[in-house]
Amino acid sequence: MKKNFCFVLFCFLVLSFFSCRRKASVHSELLMDTVCTVNLFDDGTDEIYSRIFRRLQEIENEFSVTKKDSVVSKINSAAGKNPVPVPPDVVRVTDFALRAASLTDGSFNIALGPLVDLWGINTGRAHVPDGAELDGVKDLIDWRDVVLDGENGTVFLKKSGMKLNYGGIVKGFAADEIVKILKECDVKKAVIDLGGNIYVYGSKDNGEPWKVGLKNPMNPASEPIEVLSMGEGSVVTSGVYERFFEQGGRRYHHILDPKTLFPAENNLLSSTVVSSSSMVCDLLSTATFVMGITASYALKPVIEDEFGCEVWFYFVDESCNVISPEFPLLPE
Ligand code: AMP
Ligand code: MG
Repeated sequence: MKKNFCFVLFCFLVLSFFSCRRKASVHSELLMDTVCTVNLFDDGTDEIYSRIFRRLQEIENEFSVTKKDSVVSKINSAAGKNPVPVPPDVVRVTDFALRAASLTDGSFNIALGPLVDLWGINTGRAHVPDGAELDGVKDLIDWRDVVLDGENGTVFLKKSGMKLNYGGIVKGFAADEIVKILKECDVKKAVIDLGGNIYVYGSKDNGEPWKVGLKNPMNPASEPIEVLSMGEGSVVTSGVYERFFEQGGRRYHHILDPKTLFPAENNLLSSTVVSSSSMVCDLLSTATFVMGITASYALKPVIEDEFGCEVWFYFVDESCNVISPEFPLLPE
């Protein structure tokens, strides 16, 4: 009897030890085509973690281009036919994306779906498209053919064959949505990492700034090329090392220039944006990579005004120089 009691007590202690540990542990899941990790430190409970990951799942179900029943797949299937009713998330992100397209003269373009599919980067059919293939998609990627009706909550693609792709913005939106949950749940500090799309939230117990490393594009697994010391905010990078394939001894990366229909070439290896809005960071990291340093700095005040937040750029050029906000235009 005594033996049994000791055994039950032992099990109870083991279980409570693990449940206490589980409370404060980091959670990771494969969502939105990437590893999503959230660390809530001491405020982490199973309840908050599951609320966060349920929300991420909901966002994936709306924006996925691989899930046939996602909202975006429905919009794409109805291209050239009819407007599709969409939830508020899709209205909001589409509105941001179209405003960004207008400001960047289409360098950021969610209508690039047919071109993204054609290049097939990160799929088994990645290849350099030939002229005929490019001709087949070039009239199907104009963001001005995307009609958002915010009042009625619908999205319509004017031409059959058009396809939306939110890969350059949705992780930023998702990080901002997690931050809303953190505020509601009174979480004091957190680190959100959605496939390299970072948000550091709150402040450290010792009052010291967060340290966020920027990957060395030449060797992403090595030491960071730069470490940012910062308060609360988001850090998002678009770089040549993230998704790419090689053909004929050349590397073709996943950030496409809608004007050339080829991977963007600006003598850059990566472009990082820091801001309080992760969605702005995400769309801008893609856009600035396409636009290059000079055009990005020219647009900075306009972007800040349009989206109501300050932004900072960190570019890495092809010689691996970090061009930070303090020295935006280094001499050639
Ligand atoms: P990111 O890693 O945030 O720069 O986003 C790149 C992803 O966005 C790609 O994998 C494509 O799905 C999509 N994409 C590529 N080029 C563009 C572009 N110029 N504008 C918007 N989305 C793009
Ligand atoms: Mg992006």
